[in-house]
Amino acid sequence: MKTAETIDENLDTLIARTMRHELAHYKVDKIREKFGIKAPIEDKYFKDLLEVYFAMLRLNEQEPGHYTSMINKFIKIKESDLKKALIDNLINEGVGTYYERFGQELVIKNIWLSSLGEIINISQYEITMSNTSKNLMYPIISKYGEKGIEYVVKNVPSEKDFSNLQEYQKKVLKKLEKKTKTSIYKQIVSSKN
Ligand SMILES: [Zn+2]
Repeated sequence: MKTAETIDENLDTLIARTMRHELAHYKVDKIREKFGIKAPIEDKYFKDLLEVYFAMLRLNEQEPGHYTSMINKFIKIKESDLKKALIDNLINEGVGTYYERFGQELVIKNIWLSSLGEIINISQYEITMSNTSKNLMYPIISKYGEKGIEYVVKNVPSEKDFSNLQEYQKKVLKKLEKKTKTSIYKQIVSSKN
């Protein structure tokens, strides 16, 4: 039976998780700022609109096209802007979920998006998006933490990378490994001088 205490505890957990999740998004914003990288969507209203768009997709698991045509009645969404926003959303949500759960639930369904166009057209948006974002970001963050996020934010996957995101991830991990080795080498050299 649920007592008042367990309900409170659940609420605490939920609040704490949500806060960690949102703070993780803030962290991504700060990283962009630090490196002078523009946010993918600058227009505040358009950004808000897209947030609603993503939220609707999550809640209703509708075909994304359904909402695109609805929104397009009011404002024309450029496909290139939508793509930029979707790539950002994919990375950002991967970071958000990682910190929300402290990297737990690492065993995730091996579902990956196979093209960027697929995000715009697929049904089961939530399942595909959330699994792809976790699959993509978890190994990078658990191994390299903030440095890993920095690297991805600076080198977001291109549209071509979406045909094989696992390959993109491998490249990222390799680069980060190389960077870590060089910085350790630099430390040793500077400590000798
Ligand atoms: Zn989020």
